[in-house]
Amino acid sequence: MNFDLTEEHRMIREMSRDFADEVIEPRAEEMERTGEYPYDIYARMAELGMMGIPFPEDYGGSGGDWVGMHVCIEEIARGDITVAASLEVTTSVVGEELFAFGTEEQKQEWLVPIARGAQIGAFGLTEADTGSDAASLRTTARRDGDEWVLDGVKQFITNIGMDTSSMVIVAARTGIQKNGSPIISTFIVPKTAPGFSLGKRYEKMAWHASPTHEIILDHCRIPAANLLGDPERGFAQHLAALQTGRVSMAAMSVGLAQACLDASLKYAQERTQFGKPIFEHQAVSFKLADMAVAIELARNLMLKAAWLKDQKRKYMFEAAAAKLYASEIAEKAASDAVQIHGGYGCMDEYPVSRYYRSSKFLQIVEGTSEVQRMIIGRVLAGKM
Ligand SMILES: Cc1cc2nc3c(=O)[nH]c(=O)nc-3n(C[C@H](O)[C@H](O)[C@H](O)COP(=O)(O)OP(=O)(O)OC[C@H]3O[C@@H](n4cnc5c(N)ncnc54)[C@H](O)[C@@H]3O)c2cc1C
Repeated sequence: MNFDLTEEHRMIREMSRDFADEVIEPRAEEMERTGEYPYDIYARMAELGMMGIPFPEDYGGSGGDWVGMHVCIEEIARGDITVAASLEVTTSVVGEELFAFGTEEQKQEWLVPIARGAQIGAFGLTEADTGSDAASLRTTARRDGDEWVLDGVKQFITNIGMDTSSMVIVAARTGIQKNGSPIISTFIVPKTAPGFSLGKRYEKMAWHASPTHEIILDHCRIPAANLLGDPERGFAQHLAALQTGRVSMAAMSVGLAQACLDASLKYAQERTQFGKPIFEHQAVSFKLADMAVAIELARNLMLKAAWLKDQKRKYMFEAAAAKLYASEIAEKAASDAVQIHGGYGCMDEYPVSRYYRSSKFLQIVEGTSEVQRMIIGRVLAGKM
């Protein structure tokens, strides 16, 4: 076994780490306060090729792999979780679904600008009454001549509110199977399609610079050619893309937990109480030791899942386990980081207060911890 990153992966880590330290992290608190999306940061990430790491050069990428992508996402998340969230959705979920299931024409039209970072993609699955039980979605699509007509409302959609976002991949019912369950297909819906409109921007407790919107499809007409992949297997396609997304959410969680450890270790060595740095109090150093062990385990699990994907092997268990474990240890790390900072940890001038608010999202977005346990249970029972 070889646990070393390759030369290429090490270069990606170094590039992403320097960029996160020098460009992203110094702006993170201001971004959280204003809620303004940093288009300039994203443009520089595009120049560095970050959105195209796992895709072939023919499709606007750099011909790398998913281990490299996740090394990058972890470092970007260490700098700021909202920038990583945009990167994760556009590349690991939208880019991957287009790459895996799109026709050559769809890849050239939609994937190439996304992989180059010129445009950003969004993913539309969740509705008001269907989150974890996503297969019960209500949005419909019906064929009308050379077009599909979509009706429904999707909620909590990341990225779609950004000026640079071009489209959203939408899951919709297109019929009924013999067993009575719905046929779900997926569609590429351009933001410019007639009948598409952006609903409200949600006010959130954190991740302020990652815009989250409702989208309204009111007799929304798109060309027939915008059907993505197999019309009978749209839901399975969406789930396949979300499986990659789970690994990326794990990478984001590891990055956030690492930021908690870095900040807390520094603070514990500087802050003095009872005549010595608080690091010298065992209760504090044990918290840091536990945090470091948990991060190491989460990182290894996340990279193993990414590696399995690169080997084109099954990674359903590893993806769900990585998302579950990494997001739970990230929340614990953020809570301990605030504890180690004491009262200062509750003040916005210290980043750990932002880390604490941000960490909870990781256990919910792209499948809650309970859903990950359901997937793991089904894998154990041989049902997946
Ligand atoms: C910031 C943010 C960004 C998001 N971005 C996107 C996006 O870009 N695209 C998109 O489509 N969606 C997006 N989402 C939606 C997100 O994926 C869902 O919120 C998530 O999947 C949970 O669904 P829900 O909110 O409807 O919760 P529910 O499904 O209603 O769950 C509520 C609670 O019940 C639990 N629960 C439900 N079913 C079971 C069960 N069978 N057993 C045990 N417990 C259960 C859940 O685990 C949870 O704790 C985003 C959400 C947020 C907060």
